[in-house]
Amino acid sequence: MSSAEPVAEKKPSADKKAAEPLLEVQGLTKHFVQRRGLLTRAEVLRAVDGVSFALFPGETLGLVGESGCGKSTLGRTVLRLYDPTAGRIRFEGKDITTLSQSALRPMRRHMQIIFQDPYSSLNPRMTVRDIVGEAIRIHELARTRSDEEQCVADLLKRVGLRPDQMSRYPHEFSGGQRQRIGIARALAVEPRFIVADEPVSALDVSIQAQIVNLLRDLQDELKIAYLFIAHDLKVVEYMSHRVAVMYLGRIVEIADSSRLYDGPKHPYTRALMSAIPIPEPGKKRLRILLEGDVPSPLNPPAGCTFHPRCSMAEKGLCDKTSPELRELADGHWVSCHLAE
Ligand code: SF4
Repeated sequence: MSSAEPVAEKKPSADKKAAEPLLEVQGLTKHFVQRRGLLTRAEVLRAVDGVSFALFPGETLGLVGESGCGKSTLGRTVLRLYDPTAGRIRFEGKDITTLSQSALRPMRRHMQIIFQDPYSSLNPRMTVRDIVGEAIRIHELARTRSDEEQCVADLLKRVGLRPDQMSRYPHEFSGGQRQRIGIARALAVEPRFIVADEPVSALDVSIQAQIVNLLRDLQDELKIAYLFIAHDLKVVEYMSHRVAVMYLGRIVEIADSSRLYDGPKHPYTRALMSAIPIPEPGKKRLRILLEGDVPSPLNPPAGCTFHPRCSMAEKGLCDKTSPELRELADGHWVSCHLAE
C-alpha cells in the first residue's frame, strides 16, 4: 500500500459527525532483523509492510487474516509497544511515531490493549483489586486509597463482576471472568482507543458472545474506538463498522463491514469469506480453497505477494508488479490488478 494512500480521509459509519480521526496510520512498517548464528547473514522479517488506515471515535475497525499475517504486530506497533521501522502514527492529531516512552506516558492511558489469553495476561500473584487498581495508581487517577477502591468496585460492576470479588486472585475465576478483569483493567484509565487482540478466541463459544456484547455495550456507552483483531470472521462482522483484510503484512482490502461481506473483491478475501458457513440448513457456499501455505515474511514473493496462491494470477503482471490499493467504490479499497 502506498503511504500516500488516502484511506485516512474516509469517514466511518460509526460517527458521521466526527471530522477528525482519532488514530491515523500511514505507511506503517515493522521489520524484525533476525540472525540465526554469528556467521549467518541477518534476515529481515517483514511483519508489517506499509499499512495505512484511519480510525474514528467510537468506531470499530476489524482486522482479519490468517495467523502470521501481521495483525498482532500491527496492533502492538500502533500502540508503540514496538517501535515502527518506518511510517507515521498520529493519535488525536499528535504524531507519536518517535515520542520517547516518557513523553508517551500521558497518552498511554488513552490507548489500551486487551490480550487474547486471559490466563497469562493477568499476574497470578496480584489480587483483582491490585490488577485493576495498578493503572489507576500509575496515572494518579484517584486521590485516596478508598477512592481507588471505589473506582475498582465500579469498574468490576461495569464489566459484570461483583465488587466483593476484588480480593480474589485470577486463578479463582473462569476464563470469561478473567477476560472481564482484563477489560476492567483496560477501562480503568478511561481509554479512547483499545486494541482488542483476539479477545475471545481463547474462550468457549458460549462465553464469546457475552464478551463481544460487553465490548459493544462499552463502546456505545463510552465511545471507545476498537482495533478488533480476530480470525473468526463472523465475530468480526458482528463487531466491526469497517473491516481490513491483511495478507503478509499488508492490507489487501478495506471497506464497510456490510460491503465487504456482501461483495468481497480481492481473491484472498473471497477465499476467506467462502469458508463462512451459511446458517440456513441445506445451504452451502461454494468453497474457494487456498492452495499452499502463506509464504514466509522473511522472503515474500515478488509482485503481488498473493500471486503464488491466486487462481486469477496473470503471468507477467501479478508476479512482477505489486498492486496499489485502489478505491473501487465509496470507501472500498482493494489491492489487486484485476479487481473491478
Ligand atoms: Fe491475484 Fe493478481 Fe489480484 Fe494478486 S493482483 S490478487 S495475484 S489477480
